[in-house]
Amino acid sequence: MTDKTPFEFARETLKKLTAQKLAPTPLNYQRIYSEIAGLPIDPPFPLERLQEISAALPTKTPGQQKQKGLLDSAINKRNWEGVKNALMAYGGFSPPAPVPSKPASMVDGAPDAAAPVINAVEVKPDPAAHAISAPALTAEFFGQIARLIEYATPAFGHEDERFSELTESLVKALRNPACDAVGVKQMMAQYSQRLSFAAEDQAEIKSVLLKLLHLVIENISQLSLDDNWLKGQVDALMAVCEPPLTLRRLDDVEQRLKDVIFKQTEAKARMVQAQEEMRQMLATFIERLATISTSTGTFHTQLESSARQLEQAKSIQDIAPVLKEMVSATRSMAQDSQSARDELQGMKRRAEATEAEIAKLHQDLDRVSAQARHDPLTGALNRQGLDEAVKREVSKVKRQDSPLSVALLDIDNFKKLNDSLGHATGDAALTHLAEVTREVMRPQDTLARYGGEEFVILMPDTVLDNGIEAMVRLQRELTKRFFLAGTEKVLITFSAGVAQLAPGEAGPDAIKRADQAMYLAKRAGKNRVLGA
Ligand code: GH3
Ligand code: MG
Ligand code: MG
Repeated sequence: MTDKTPFEFARETLKKLTAQKLAPTPLNYQRIYSEIAGLPIDPPFPLERLQEISAALPTKTPGQQKQKGLLDSAINKRNWEGVKNALMAYGGFSPPAPVPSKPASMVDGAPDAAAPVINAVEVKPDPAAHAISAPALTAEFFGQIARLIEYATPAFGHEDERFSELTESLVKALRNPACDAVGVKQMMAQYSQRLSFAAEDQAEIKSVLLKLLHLVIENISQLSLDDNWLKGQVDALMAVCEPPLTLRRLDDVEQRLKDVIFKQTEAKARMVQAQEEMRQMLATFIERLATISTSTGTFHTQLESSARQLEQAKSIQDIAPVLKEMVSATRSMAQDSQSARDELQGMKRRAEATEAEIAKLHQDLDRVSAQARHDPLTGALNRQGLDEAVKREVSKVKRQDSPLSVALLDIDNFKKLNDSLGHATGDAALTHLAEVTREVMRPQDTLARYGGEEFVILMPDTVLDNGIEAMVRLQRELTKRFFLAGTEKVLITFSAGVAQLAPGEAGPDAIKRADQAMYLAKRAGKNRVLGA
């Protein structure tokens, strides 16, 4: 080092640049300045090599894409600090807190206005990279991760204690203002590994539970193979518990299972009672038979003894008491037989009544099954199913303060379709509409057949505008997916009204408003959707 001031170095540098006719680029300035001041000459910035490295980095995740963007920006600005920060962040390390920027050549020298603040602008940490390393933002970012982990935790259950502990300590570390980034990173790595196991476990548990549910349902159906009503319910249950499972479908499974179990229990209790009655009747019958045979036995003995007395009788006086005995024995025998016959006839009548009662019970169950919650033609809910679904959804609205929209749609000119193509084709058109609707609507939406060619759709968490949009989307979809009647393409259109449940409004009233809006849509020319 000489005694010259940085100002003098700067002046000499400029002179030398002019003398050597060098272009006054920052690089040339820095090189000449370093020569004059006797400072180590920084090797030139390896722009192309770094660009090659950056180009080779994978950018599969949004995080990688972001860090690569920051890296490219730092490379283009020849900003070593930025390059370092971006690479560290890309590798998952927290970049160090930024230090006031200064060129390497000034480590020993005092900062000075005339010092070679080459690339002064460029050497500043890249704003984006700076944002990541700023402690305040890092804390906020870590806080967000902690929240994210907390929100996701219930999904993984509490069975794995080790995982629960790991989650707890990671969240705690992330929330610690003085957290050690490297330590947190290690914990995150452990957590991710454990998380992947826990997620796999949960998926497995779900699929095993579903299999078990299937097994239980199958077993129920095999227990009572001869019950038609049960078979219908069991088939519907099997269909409903196919994946993908949603809360709505699970709810449906639960309702149906309750129905099946309730009705089966009811029937079983009556059967057990009937069986007990029959058992008692049989016991009485056997008792009677025994009495009859005892009295016939006694009667025989008496007859034999009377016959012997008769053989030995010498006079009419000897016969008279024998005759008296015989008459009395015969009378009591006849009485016993009569009461036994009466009793048996009574039992027969009671058995017939029980049999009739059981037959009626079966009929009732068949009828109940026919009145299940689903419309057999379209598979949509029927009115009863709709009533229950509306109750459920309305109480959810109250509980969660979420919007619910209700649409009522009526097929346009359906009578004409029936008349021209036949009732069976009309039925197939209804099924087609229900199928397309189910595919277009979200899994949490509910489709119900409201009447002949009228359907209601319940759309939870949906405000009016979105409900109208959904119905318009369904209309568009129906124009794309023609209904095929044989080889003839038939366009099915509908008119619909949509109403959003108002605060305090009853479900059926909202449906009524949707119905009125549907009616207006018909009057306005059909094939349109109107909000109520
Ligand atoms: P609009 O456009 O005004 O609604 O006219 P539309 O012909 O659709 O309505 P309308 O109420 O006059 O006729 C409805 C028809 O739907 C009459 C009835 O025979 C038919 N329908 C109702 N239920 C069924 C069903 O289950 N299957 C079939 N194929 N037709 C049905
Ligand atoms: Mg109608
Ligand atoms: Mg109609």
